[in-house]
Amino acid sequence: MKKLLFPLVIFALLAGCNRPAPPAPAAAPDWPDIPQVASYNIEVTLDADAKTLTGHETITYLNTTDIPIPDAVFHLYLNAFRDQNSIFLTESGTARGYAWDAGHPGWIEVTGIRLADGTPLTLESIEDGTLARVQLPSPVPGGESFSLEVDFRAQLPKVFARTGFFGDDFFMIGQWFPKLGVWQPGSQSAVEGWNAYPFHANSEFFADFGTYDVAITLPTGYVTGATGLPVAEKDNGNGTQTVSYHAQSVIDFSWTASPNFRQTARTVNGVEVVYFYLPEHSFTVERALDAAEAAVTYFGEWYGAYPYPRLLVVDVPDEAGGAGGMEYPMLVTAGLEDFTGLGIMKGEFDRMLELVTVHEIGHEWWYATAAFNEAEEPWLDEGFTDYSTVRLMGKVYGPYDAVDAGNVKLSYQQMRRMDYLAFPNTPMYGKAWDFNGLAGYGVAAYAKPALALTTLENILGEETMLEVMSTFYQRYQFQHPTTDDFRLTAEEVSGQDLDWFFDGLVYGDGALNYSVSAVDEHSVTVMRQGELVIPTEVEVTFSNGSAVLEPWGGGGGEQVFTYPDKTVIRAEIDPGRKIVLDTQWSDNGLSRRMDIWSWLAINTRLFYQLQNWMLYWGGL
Ligand SMILES: [Zn+2]
Repeated sequence: MKKLLFPLVIFALLAGCNRPAPPAPAAAPDWPDIPQVASYNIEVTLDADAKTLTGHETITYLNTTDIPIPDAVFHLYLNAFRDQNSIFLTESGTARGYAWDAGHPGWIEVTGIRLADGTPLTLESIEDGTLARVQLPSPVPGGESFSLEVDFRAQLPKVFARTGFFGDDFFMIGQWFPKLGVWQPGSQSAVEGWNAYPFHANSEFFADFGTYDVAITLPTGYVTGATGLPVAEKDNGNGTQTVSYHAQSVIDFSWTASPNFRQTARTVNGVEVVYFYLPEHSFTVERALDAAEAAVTYFGEWYGAYPYPRLLVVDVPDEAGGAGGMEYPMLVTAGLEDFTGLGIMKGEFDRMLELVTVHEIGHEWWYATAAFNEAEEPWLDEGFTDYSTVRLMGKVYGPYDAVDAGNVKLSYQQMRRMDYLAFPNTPMYGKAWDFNGLAGYGVAAYAKPALALTTLENILGEETMLEVMSTFYQRYQFQHPTTDDFRLTAEEVSGQDLDWFFDGLVYGDGALNYSVSAVDEHSVTVMRQGELVIPTEVEVTFSNGSAVLEPWGGGGGEQVFTYPDKTVIRAEIDPGRKIVLDTQWSDNGLSRRMDIWSWLAINTRLFYQLQNWMLYWGGL
């Protein structure tokens, strides 16, 4: 998910109109060839009037560990929206600025569960009902699979936290079917066994890769889009149609439906990039496709090619912003986020549309394929994605990549810096529910990691950083990498001890402010405030016009550099502004009060420089 901290962020999106669902592709595409661990064959019917789902699924789970599996643990995410007592609603009340509507709750109920041979099983609810468990008749050994037949029905909530309906005919359907947790040995996880937590307000998702075959029955006239490729559509002759999708090597399946969607597409590096938009947002078509093309192109270049044949970007209605700004495999939702919170900008004066689109597509690398545990280590998926967003936006949209409207100019990095400066003493590492409230979580998972990884890049250099990131991605694509895996890769590839990054920034809650505290004739004193230490450099300029760059580890609170044979004019810490986490930049440089001769020396030099410059540009 995308969670901007900027004041009262509001998403605005739309659903628009009337063309039939896309045709099935001509040739069978290549899907990533990996073990299909958790596979789902689902038939579901949407009652568009009642806003309900009725479904049946066959789940097949492969035990890839050597620990026998005695039971099965499911997520029933929609129960987070059943009533105010759920863990989710107790913790949040609102999600992303949108409130739960007690008049339109959401829930899911398993109406039948049995083994493939018909043996009935008994489902027991866990905690607030967002988890449930069945005992298997006998443990499933490593290397073997088990299958379950599950009947379910669900009430969709009015959209506020990613999923549900809006108005009469807009549906964004995520976290909607009974879904297994991840079976893991203790060596790979905080818990041995089923890694599955109740649905917390800040936590997102964690799942195994598998094959999804999903047949959706809904009223005719609806345009559908989903994870996967559309493979069949049938008019049932009774006012309904059935649209079937297939996906492989994905960790989730979400879908959207509205009779109002219009669609357009562009092929980018062999990937079909499709944009579903609402007619009132037709002005976003080129912008959304341009942003999506940039994301698929650059992230592919930096980290590794987008691995699926199709990518769908979904627009959402202005008033259903809770559905916008979300990522699923092969499907992201965007929208016209209005950071004034007043709904007045409508995407005309800012690049929130591009930001959200790029961020969510970034998750196709950092979530959908490098499938982090978003509950246990949320900083990884949001942080890597937001860092990638900062990087791409600056590269493609220039220095004012967030807002460039008249006198109002703002970069996305500046926005993240403002977020960070409000709560600089926040560690990045923690489980999603360790962070109280939007601010702490937003800084921990988004703003601080984006700035920390940018700082890491500035210190390692672009080439080394890209090698770190691409090596990490290639190594852990289609796996569940952890913070430790990233540390091993980053230190190995860079050949550096990165304690300052991991101990200082990931696990630590210290902040830093570097400043020049004194510039005397023959010495410079620099100082660090705060617990955080990041290696930097000090540029010292002398009266003869020369300068030196002094490395400074920053470890001591204060350091004096002396120059008995030279006259110091000026000193500046971190002159390249590499440490974008420095809490105050205004005190990074200091000039000495000069005597008249130094002043004349410098200004005479400046005068000649200025004269040369004018002559040059004047063509004289
Ligand atoms: Zn996100």
